[in-house]
Parts: sequence; structure tokens; C-alpha cells
Amino acid sequence: MNHDELARWSKRAADWARDYHAGLRERPVRPDILPGDFRKLIEAPVPESPEPMERIFDDFTRLVPDAMTHWQHPRFFAYFPANAAPVSMLAEQLANAMAAQAMLWQTAPAANEMEALVLDWLRDGLGLPGTFTATIHDSATTATFSAVLTMREKALDYKGLTEGLSSTPRLRLYASAQTHSSVDKAARLSGIGQDNLVKIPGRANDPLYSMDPTALDDAIRADLAAGHTPAGVILATGGTSIGACDDLTACIAVAKTHGLPTHVDAAWAGSAMIAPEFRTLWQGVEQADSIVFNPHKWLGAQFDASVQFLRDPRPQIATMGLRPDYLKTQGADEVVNYNEWTLPLGRRFRALKLWFLLRAEGLSGLRQRIRNHVAWAGEARDAIAALPGFEIVTEPILSLFTFALDSDARTAALLEAVNRDGRIYLTQTTHEGRFVIRVQVGQFDCTRDDVMTIPEVLAACAARL
Ligand code: PLP
Repeated sequence: MNHDELARWSKRAADWARDYHAGLRERPVRPDILPGDFRKLIEAPVPESPEPMERIFDDFTRLVPDAMTHWQHPRFFAYFPANAAPVSMLAEQLANAMAAQAMLWQTAPAANEMEALVLDWLRDGLGLPGTFTATIHDSATTATFSAVLTMREKALDYKGLTEGLSSTPRLRLYASAQTHSSVDKAARLSGIGQDNLVKIPGRANDPLYSMDPTALDDAIRADLAAGHTPAGVILATGGTSIGACDDLTACIAVAKTHGLPTHVDAAWAGSAMIAPEFRTLWQGVEQADSIVFNPHKWLGAQFDASVQFLRDPRPQIATMGLRPDYLKTQGADEVVNYNEWTLPLGRRFRALKLWFLLRAEGLSGLRQRIRNHVAWAGEARDAIAALPGFEIVTEPILSLFTFALDSDARTAALLEAVNRDGRIYLTQTTHEGRFVIRVQVGQFDCTRDDVMTIPEVLAACAARL
């Protein structure tokens, strides 16, 4: 394919995309297929000779969409959203067309300086202090891993980087029992070890399910007494399971008493902080050392774009940054080279979609969507609570709540029936030992009617159990 043909096919692809999105409500959200079914449809030996584009494109449109779970479906209420506003898709096309590597300032000056600008915009839009700087990662998992590596190295006086971990003291991390598995992964992969991630129990009768700050303090003191080295505290604003929010003011105060760095995982809920009325959920966040949130979840920036704000980037740069001769910037040593803040060297031009999105929607447009989602989630919660035999297990935190029937078996059977029905898509979690169904409202194109389909489908499926 040459660039003339690319232009022609891009038009075809854009037309196809428009029709695909227009027809999403007619599709089941999740395809009714079994593992291995799709591969059978495309099984073929490795192509030796070129194939005509017409045939490849036709195979795509005939086979692929029917075997996909449609994350942009307006009735996708599973996991968390992965919103892709059309304008962010357009920006991705343009970034793809240039296919630049934004690893150093000089390898992509516009990408580099736009990254700094849009991250300032987001910082201000979220109400964070102007002292925070930031970078863009692919995922919250990478951002949290980077924060944990930085905690490790700070605790080891940066000796782990050169001397390895074999003779180092036992490092300890602390997080709530509600923490996302990316924190467990960071503990594993950093060499600190999953057993050294101390899960702090929740505070009694806390409607936001915060970890207990007193238990956090006790755990740190016990580890110090045992000769261990506390390295840092990871806090959650909007945990994946039920939306748990740690009491940042109290927990960060405990961490500071012990001189420990803190990282706040607001991967999902961070987007909601563009609306000032939700900021009580992360009150005290300005005291954190590191904060991650994913514009690729609720905000509308096409996957992937995960933003990490840093009070002081120097500890992370000291941990992640390497400057071999072949990567030195010629004649401009004072510039920011974002690869020194992040794990990979090569970096995509992710700032472009944030620049397009924020300008085309404005904070006001994005805020209104999130406010609608939170309000509609509340209405759906009330309608589900009114269904016979249904119990709301955890109340909405932002737009996420959970419910169950009278036994785990019946709740699981209901979930299976709902997802086979296909009109909506929901997923499960375990809360206090109980199998519960999660509802999150956040898909970019959903309407109130889409959301109120949830109680309708639940009632119909429960009646058939
Ligand atoms: N943290 C929280 C609270 C999440 O909900 C998720 C994913 O849903 C993650 C971290 C991991 O995000 P990513 O897929 O960007 O690694």
C-alpha cells in the first residue's frame, strides 16, 4: 500500500467506522462465542504472496466486529469505561500518520511541549496545585509500577539500581485491601515481593471503605520494630471493585510522620475530579507525591493515555532515567526528555488526543457527561432496589454500585443470563465474601434511556431464573 492508496482506504475505514458506531445499539454488547471460535474463522497458513486489500478489508468487516466485545457500546456497564471520543480517534489517526517517537525533546519537539501543556491543563482542570508536573504512560499499571520502583529506590538510597536487591533490607509497602491488582503486580515485579505488600484493613462503618489510618500507623510501627524498611504507601481513590476511596488526608499524614512517599491510584475516578463537587472524595490529594489517573477511562481519550502527576519528578527520574551517549540531546541539555520519567524508551504521541479532546469538548462538555453518568447511576440504583429480591450491596460511589440476589449461585446465574441476553453488559466482583454484580455508568455515548435499560433487563432475566 502506498500513501495514495492509504488515503483512499482511510476514507473507506472512516465510513465503516461511522456505520459501525451508528449500529452499535443493534449489536449485543458481548459476543456469544466460545474460546477458539474466532481463530477457526481466520485460520490460514502464513501469507507468502500479497493479497488484495479488498479481500483483507472485507474479511475484517465480515468477521472481526461480530467477535468483539463492544467497549464503545452505549450499554456497556462492565469493568470501567474505555471511552474514545470521536475527536480523540481523529487525533490518533493524525499521530499515527506521523508515526513519531516522542522519547526525547529533539525526536518530537511538538509532542514533547504539547505533553507539558496538556498535562498543565489537566492538572488545573482537576484542581491540583500548580506545583505538580506530570508525564503520560500507557497504563495505570505502568505508572504505579514506576511509583513503586521510585519508592524502592528512595528507601534504598538509590543503591538497588546499581547493586541489586540481594543484600538489601526487607522493604515494605502499604495499601488498602481494596487496592487494584496493579499494586500487587508492582510489588512483585519491583522485587519487593507481594508478601511485603501489607494490606491494611478498612475503617469500621466507613461509607467510602477507606483503609484504617490507625491500622496503617500500627503496621508501619510494627515493621520498624521488626527491623524492616517501610518504602511507601499506595492509596486508592475509586477502587475497581466497589469504588473505595481512602481517607487521603489521614493516611498521607500517617505516611508523612514516617517520612514515606505516597502514590494515589485514581485511575478511574480521577476523571470525575474535573467536577469540583466530587473532589471531597480525594480531599488531601495535594499532599500526595504521585497520582495516577487514566484519561482513557472516563474522560474520553482513546486508549491508551495514563497520566501520572508528580510533586517532584526528580526521585522518579533518578530511578528511571538513563542517558547513554546515543540519547544525549544535542546542544539543549535543559529540556525535559520524558523517556527518563517512564519505563519504555520509545513513546507514542499521546498528548495530541488530549489536546484535541480538551479543546473540542471543553472541560464543561466533559464535566456534563460525568455529572449525567453519576445522576443516572443513582436512578438505576433506585430502580434496581425496587425490584423484588434485589439488594443493593454497596451504594454508588460516583457512578459505581453493586447489587445481589439472595444467594451467590442465583446472582451468578442472573449475571450469566443478563450477558447472554446481550442488551447490556455487566461484570462481577466479590464484596465481603459475597458474589455481587457491579454496575458502572460511564460510556461516552450512553443516554438515560440506555442506563434505565439495566433494571428492565434485570427484571426480565430474574423472572426467567
Ligand atoms: N487502578 C484502578 C483503580 C483500575 O480500575 C485499573 C483498571 O481498571 C487500573 C489501576 C489498571 O489500569 P490500566 O489498565 O491502565 O493498567
